[in-house]
Amino acid sequence: MTQETVRPRGLVGRTWMRLSHEVLHRAEPVMGRLVHPARLAWLGRVPAVPASAVPRLRSPARPWTAAVPEPPAELRTQPGIGRTSAAEDEAARDRPLHHFFALHADAVAKVSGYLWPALVSVAPRLVRSTTQLIASRSEPAGRATAEDPTTLAGSLRAEAAALGISATGVTSYDPRYQFAEFPGPEVGDRVIVCILEQNYEATQRIPAERSEQAALSTYAQLQDRLVELTRWLHARGFSARAESYIGESMFIHYAVAAGLGQLGLNGQLLTPHAGSRCRINVIHTDAPLPLDEPVDFGIEGVCDRCQACVRRCPVGAIPGRRREHRGVVKAKLNTKRCLPIVTQAAGCSVCMKVCPVQAYGLPAVLEEYERSGEILGTHTDELEGYDWPLDGKHYPPGSTPKVPDEVVRPEGYAFDPDRTDPPSGYPVLGA
Ligand code: SF4
Ligand code: SF4
Repeated sequence: MTQETVRPRGLVGRTWMRLSHEVLHRAEPVMGRLVHPARLAWLGRVPAVPASAVPRLRSPARPWTAAVPEPPAELRTQPGIGRTSAAEDEAARDRPLHHFFALHADAVAKVSGYLWPALVSVAPRLVRSTTQLIASRSEPAGRATAEDPTTLAGSLRAEAAALGISATGVTSYDPRYQFAEFPGPEVGDRVIVCILEQNYEATQRIPAERSEQAALSTYAQLQDRLVELTRWLHARGFSARAESYIGESMFIHYAVAAGLGQLGLNGQLLTPHAGSRCRINVIHTDAPLPLDEPVDFGIEGVCDRCQACVRRCPVGAIPGRRREHRGVVKAKLNTKRCLPIVTQAAGCSVCMKVCPVQAYGLPAVLEEYERSGEILGTHTDELEGYDWPLDGKHYPPGSTPKVPDEVVRPEGYAFDPDRTDPPSGYPVLGA
């Protein structure tokens, strides 16, 4: 968790940022129709530079091994996330979950049209790794090994670590968190959650096309490793089926259930080692692996005292308090305000950049809290400052960009958070 120092952009860097935003934004109406994720399959035949050859996109690809200290009593809430099972059941029955890409296809078209250079440059690797991942599902299982479950789990974790996966956990399949667009996995009731850390430097540049490239590249690097882990399970005679980066189920739910992190106020999974600077994916299997349990890392207590993402969101889309939503107690983002910004300001994600758990890791945050009672980095420019692509200016703590009305409510895009059916006129998943 030792972090590099990231040099801030100078005037030239910020001017370049603003000009490239302008060019990309003007190209969006055309590129949004051409460069939709559902239409990129042909890029899998284009030669690609491996991520290992591009340092700014490379994941550290090492298992997280540093110990995470116990949080002090006042930061504790509950293991994982507060939930009411009956309300979760009711929500799943009456309002099944839909995939984001299906429900917000207009937003996806807009963001892919704006960030098309990032999408196109990573797509050859991403499409190829997805093709291999889908092919790995049909590889036959042999005779299941009679290994003791605990030994099997130890061997699985060792294999994942050797592959450079940052963290793994095991939980059980929950149909309530399956997106309606996909059938269930039908290969057993175990879900192996795998997490890969994303490049540090690229993430501190947020909001920027480079960080979007790093995110997509991390998905591709994680998928390559999932293919290997799936084959490893097949070789031991177990059924195993990895989901693609698109996701057929809610990965964050499984990651919390498997004890790999807790939800931050920014709505993201905060892992103790890298906060939300990571990508998640899952493998469904019938291997009889022991289940991990949710953990109270003290993250909700840290969030309550931090609130950096609440302060720094340029459009005030993050509430500072949690409430129950679909049976889960969390801060519910105002998607109607957030989505237009994500799609027009280099993916935004300021709420990821300014998070101290992302930037410094939870052990350092807890250590500082024990020492001073403060949350590490809050109110400093290093953590909370960011450059804004729409005007090329730097915004230190205490100031946020004025986002024009036409950006917050762009013409022709509904960004309706209450939508229950996919909008017409856009490519749908699997098309
Ligand atoms: S992505 Fe940007 S607009 Fe959306 S919640 Fe985060 S900081 Fe706010
Ligand atoms: S920025 Fe602060 S409040 Fe927001 S998710 Fe991170 S730790 Fe929690």
